[in-house]
Amino acid sequence: MYRAMRKRQIKWTVIVFILLAGILYLGKIPYDEILRTEVHTRHMQLMKTASMLRQEKLLDVVQDARRLALNSGVKSYIETPTADHRNKMQRALINTSNVYGRYDQIRYIDLQGMEQVRVDYADDGAYAVADTILQSKADSTYVTEGLALDEDQVYFSPIDLNRENGTLERPLKPVIRLVQKVTDSDGEPQGLLVLNYAAGEFLNQFRALFPDLDQPMLLNNEGYWLLNAQADKTWGWLLGQPQQTLGAERPALWKKMQTTPGQTMELDGDLFSYQRFDAVNVATNGLSSYADERKLIRGISTSAKWFMLVQTRSPQWHVGAAYLRPWFRVFVVGLFLMAAMLVYFVIASREQRRVSRAAQRGQLADFKDLYENAPIGYVTVSASGLITNVNHMLLAYLGYQREELLNDCYFMDLVDDESRAGLEGLMHSLGAGEHEQYRLEMRCKHGERLTVLCSVSSRLSTSSMLTVGRCSVQDISQQVSLERSLERLAYSDSLTGLANRRHFDELASRELKRLQREGGPLTALALDVDRFKAVNDRYGHAAGDKVLKSLARHGEKLLRGTDILARFGGEEFTVLLPGATQEQGRNKAEALRQALAEAPVTLQAGEVIHYTVSIGVATLARPEETQLPALLKRADEALYQAKRSGRNRVCVAEPEC
Ligand code: GH3
Ligand code: MG
Ligand code: MG
Repeated sequence: MYRAMRKRQIKWTVIVFILLAGILYLGKIPYDEILRTEVHTRHMQLMKTASMLRQEKLLDVVQDARRLALNSGVKSYIETPTADHRNKMQRALINTSNVYGRYDQIRYIDLQGMEQVRVDYADDGAYAVADTILQSKADSTYVTEGLALDEDQVYFSPIDLNRENGTLERPLKPVIRLVQKVTDSDGEPQGLLVLNYAAGEFLNQFRALFPDLDQPMLLNNEGYWLLNAQADKTWGWLLGQPQQTLGAERPALWKKMQTTPGQTMELDGDLFSYQRFDAVNVATNGLSSYADERKLIRGISTSAKWFMLVQTRSPQWHVGAAYLRPWFRVFVVGLFLMAAMLVYFVIASREQRRVSRAAQRGQLADFKDLYENAPIGYVTVSASGLITNVNHMLLAYLGYQREELLNDCYFMDLVDDESRAGLEGLMHSLGAGEHEQYRLEMRCKHGERLTVLCSVSSRLSTSSMLTVGRCSVQDISQQVSLERSLERLAYSDSLTGLANRRHFDELASRELKRLQREGGPLTALALDVDRFKAVNDRYGHAAGDKVLKSLARHGEKLLRGTDILARFGGEEFTVLLPGATQEQGRNKAEALRQALAEAPVTLQAGEVIHYTVSIGVATLARPEETQLPALLKRADEALYQAKRSGRNRVCVAEPEC
């Protein structure tokens, strides 16, 4: 049983743990969703800021180019290309380079593609390079594109890494070339202003926008990185690493970026947000001072379209999660411990209740069995005496069916009128819970009487079943009849059935007390069969017995109800006549003598035994209890006298006392 309980406890602990884990997991899902949303919102906001930054940069550099095109130094050289004006132009370009500090080179190239003036930017400021190293750039795309520009248009080259004499400059220097056509006062194009914008500035500012938790990336239209926390992944197309693309590394993400404009997604637990970085379509909120930048800018068809991609790795976006905090772990461990304890106690207490219920049921079954099958009767009664339950044995005693008695019959209906007092006592004891015994006469179904001994066995709660108690009912008929026969044996003479000497003494004592109280005389007769020995001798002892029995029957017939006839032993009898005077006593004795003399005994053989008796009479006119022996003695003396006087006669003891 203990083992089964342990098993149950373990089983339920496992179930509760699984449930708790499930609940915690289910709770984690929306919680993570909130974290994700937070991260994505941050990504989107920062990417928006980044877009605006690029837009601002774009407009800045466009304005720089325009301003430079309108610069008087530049204009004067265009109008009149003298050496002096060339110097003026050089100064203007140097000034511009120094003022902004973001142009690696600023050049003026004539319509044949020949560099006329070139200003480089170094750490200690801008300077014009020597004329000897000026080159023809007629084959460069930006020159071709620049020459094709409309008035007021600016050409933007794709981002590139700066090269010096055909080799990449180290450290790598990202560059975007801006080309502005320069016209003379007649509106005739005269040359191109080419500004090499050092895009590293923008890339750094872009990176600085994002917190350390995020990894911002910039990719060109082909999926090559312009910016990546892992620097060796960048500029793949320029560094001879064509496989170094997002498309190769994360095809699914790259595909999605191609097809869906701005999105967020989760890959291997990392959160990604991306946005197409369309340089000319950023300022759509009307803040831009340019009505139609697309018109303004040339060259941004595909090559200058970038992608912003922000990656937040799983540990980073979970970094603030409550469930990673120590207090939450302590809470979870506590929760599980409490759940385990709860399971333990609930199951233990249920088990305890189950065991006690089973014990109760067992006890009840035992009790019912004991009640129902007890070898004595049981009856349960309400306070009013209604029978509410009865057992098998009592039904057998009384001959009833259970339905005839239950809730339909009062206990008093089954009890004889003689036993009313006993019944009242019993009901009182039931109510009071006293363990008393009462002897009652009960009536059986078919009228027989049954003497029973009723004992209160228990007092019950009256509230629930309206029963007050139950008592055992024991059939004591046999015991009673035994008692009666014992009583008879103790008090009567076995041959004649008359009172014996002991009984006579009791009865006589009672009569004496009464007479002493109430007054009145008392007469005693002492009677003896004459020559009885001879009867025995002649007819046998059995015949003698028959004579004695006959004498007893006739004596009883002749005497009054209050008279007491007793056999003292042998053929000697004593009669007590309460209230009889001496005279009345003598008369009664005489009548008795005569009657007996005339009542011979006939034996079976047909022989007839005639017998006579002698009687002595003695009287107490005012009897007292102590005088009985003396009275009997005097009666005996009178009897002795009757014998001596010839027998078959009555003698009175004189004087009357
Ligand atoms: P008396 O006239 O002087 O009384 O003479 P009796 O023979 O009656 O007196 P006795 O005392 O000599 O004899 C009494 C006899 O009664 C003796 C005894 O055998 C007989 N007897 C005593 N008890 C019983 C009895 O219970 N049954 C019978 N059959 N005889 C008994
Ligand atoms: Mg005698
Ligand atoms: Mg005799």
